[in-house]
Amino acid sequence: MEDEFTKDEQRATRDEDGNTYYVPADMTYKNWKKNIDNGFNFEQKIKISKNINEEQLFRPVNLDKNNVFESNRGDVNILAYKIINAKNNIYVSNGVRLKPKELHKIDLSITQSLEKLKIVNFDNLPTVVIIDSSEIQTGTMASYNAIKNKLYIDKAIGNKVKLLELQRDAASPKNVLSTYVHEYIHWMDAQSYIIGHGEIIDSKEYLYWIRHKSRKKIDELINKGYNINKISNYANNEYAKGKYDEMYTEYRVKKLLGE
Ligand SMILES: [Zn+2]
Repeated sequence: MEDEFTKDEQRATRDEDGNTYYVPADMTYKNWKKNIDNGFNFEQKIKISKNINEEQLFRPVNLDKNNVFESNRGDVNILAYKIINAKNNIYVSNGVRLKPKELHKIDLSITQSLEKLKIVNFDNLPTVVIIDSSEIQTGTMASYNAIKNKLYIDKAIGNKVKLLELQRDAASPKNVLSTYVHEYIHWMDAQSYIIGHGEIIDSKEYLYWIRHKSRKKIDELINKGYNINKISNYANNEYAKGKYDEMYTEYRVKKLLGE
């Protein structure tokens, strides 16, 4: 009875990577497998199985309830659990109901951003904490905390439409990796500080260092005739507030990802 589904069997199958897929009720396993073997990618696998709930294609979000992470953002207390079935080191706040598809998008975007940035040393990568918009407070969709080495991200960016809407004023606004790459550049800057100065204990000291350094880089760009006003609206707003590190981060996003 190989390669064939019985009528009332749950029509689920696993590929070599252990991913579970659901086969449409009216399709034989052999036909489905043939399509997959003919080079359909993951998105196309979804299309093949479109008569079932798309969410079922993704592995459920599994939490390790013994691996708890507690933190404060402003006056909000966040309790987050480690996600077992994510490739990256991700926690999710207990105030968030994360859908499997959202986790998949976030996890994949992190992996792709690390690749884009050619990050090969994973030793001190930040812990990612998925939180709710009400918990992030700063009005942004993502925020890197250099002292804690935590990357907080709003659950909303697991949805492509919302992500593109939220990052419309950022550099490379149409690229789904823009926000992630931006945050990981902040992380990379923190790593170069740590190499030269040791652990980041005082955020003011770190910010002084990174802003001073970023301002010099921006001045170099201006001297070369580069129009810094065209990087992004966000970069311009932050520059006006003296947050040169934000503009230089945006410049690097644009350089890496394009328009
Ligand atoms: Zn930033």
